[in-house]
Amino acid sequence: MNNNLFLRNGSKIAIIGGGPAGSFFAHFASRYAAEMGIDISIKIFDRKSFCQRGPRGCNMCAGVISENLFNKLEEEEINIAQFCIQRRIEGYCFQTQDDSVFLHHPIPGHVPKIVTVFRGNGPIQSPHEGNISFDDFLLNHVKKQDVEVIFEVVKDIKLPSRKGNPINVIFGERDSKKEFEADLVVGAFGVNTGMMEKFSQMDFGYKPPKTVRTCQCEIMLSHEHIEKMFGNNVFVFALGKKELKFASITPKADYVTVNLVGRRDLTRKNLIDFLSHQAVRKLMPKDWEIPKSFCMCISKIPITYAKHPYTDRIVVLGDASISRTYKSGIESAFNMAKLSAYTTFKYGVSERAFMNGYFKPAKKVLARDNFYGIMMLKINDYISSQRQIANTHIKVIRSDKDKKTSDQINEILWNMLTGNITYKEIFYKAMNPHLVSKMLPIDTIAWARQKRDDINAWRRARSKMV
Ligand SMILES: Cc1cc2nc3c(=O)[nH]c(=O)nc-3n(C[C@H](O)[C@H](O)[C@H](O)COP(=O)(O)OP(=O)(O)OC[C@H]3O[C@@H](n4cnc5c(N)ncnc54)[C@H](O)[C@@H]3O)c2cc1C
Repeated sequence: MNNNLFLRNGSKIAIIGGGPAGSFFAHFASRYAAEMGIDISIKIFDRKSFCQRGPRGCNMCAGVISENLFNKLEEEEINIAQFCIQRRIEGYCFQTQDDSVFLHHPIPGHVPKIVTVFRGNGPIQSPHEGNISFDDFLLNHVKKQDVEVIFEVVKDIKLPSRKGNPINVIFGERDSKKEFEADLVVGAFGVNTGMMEKFSQMDFGYKPPKTVRTCQCEIMLSHEHIEKMFGNNVFVFALGKKELKFASITPKADYVTVNLVGRRDLTRKNLIDFLSHQAVRKLMPKDWEIPKSFCMCISKIPITYAKHPYTDRIVVLGDASISRTYKSGIESAFNMAKLSAYTTFKYGVSERAFMNGYFKPAKKVLARDNFYGIMMLKINDYISSQRQIANTHIKVIRSDKDKKTSDQINEILWNMLTGNITYKEIFYKAMNPHLVSKMLPIDTIAWARQKRDDINAWRRARSKMV
């Protein structure tokens, strides 16, 4: 064991990125250091200030805080400030081209602790006062634990000439570049940054996760309209659009956040196309037109996990490392920050410590579960893209005739959308013999109807061409 590769009194931690992964690491590192009686200093570097409105001050996401994360934050005495909470979510609405159904928590009467927030200080046109940013709230929380936050960009990392020695972090703009010597560098820089390239070029084996570009926007609507049409429900859409993997509208106080995730990179055109769909327009005010300008961004989402996100004195976490596929990214950042901070203080900051204490267990939990996730998402994609099958599932959920089957589908969809349980658990619920025996004949008939519709549509298109 290399005793040099442990943090001790006076050790310095540099965290690159003040998003959830960075703040949560700082939170846990402060806690474990205090528990072990070690006096360390922590600096978080972020290139942006979350006081700004619009994409410049935002880490671009739907802003749904899952129930699991909400509970974990409460356990850590991180109580999300009222001014951050835009809305308390009670349910989800699953909307197809023709029909919709409200999904509820599988336990009758349970009020879910799901909230929506803005990651930055709200949309660009927002007239509110003060700062309502969730990411800023987390940074303020860790500042109270003596963590220093430096709003400067990190430009480079210099590995020491002697393996195991401290690392130089170079930050600040060209004419005011500064250096900081760190005993541990935490890469919590997400996937929307050139830092991934920088780390890949450092030759310790890091390969960033693969990503796709998603598209999002904030639409301002009156509070009354949101109450009436959305209420406290996130709307999820299965509109048969092959290019979309996931489409949702998340209600905030006076805005709704539109999120589109595609199979490939999406553009503004996909967003306009989605907003123009009659199922979406029906939720908007009468005579509503797509605004000429609105707060929108294209941000990346990881679809695989990184390779070798660690070496001596360096650990990468959050989106830039490993997270749950397409779901609860902030909760994954929390879990991985906790695991890597625990490793730092219990086993040290060597490559081996991070491999055994952090990345191997993370892969065991997340990568295996993501395997089930990919299967479940493929099944979900297929059902969502087939109009007849999607409509049939809605009818079954709504039906009073077979409560057991209805509850089982509600539970699967609820968990897929909220990320409340692991993909593996969802998979086994979907393979339940009662459910399969009930749904197989119903789905076969719906599938045959779909094929009939497809053939008719193809014939119509062909006769038009002739
Ligand atoms: C369309 C979409 C919707 C999503 N919806 C949800 C949701 O509803 N709920 C949920 O839990 N998750 C959601 N996610 C996932 C969630 O956004 C991420 O998992 C989460 O933000 C990851 O946190 P992070 O700290 O790793 O990275 P980030 O949040 O990206 O933070 C990285 C930080 O590093 C900073 N940084 C980068 N480079 C540098 C540099 N060189 N110097 C200094 N600072 C730097 C950035 O400014 C940024 O603040 C969504 C993602 C997308 C794309």
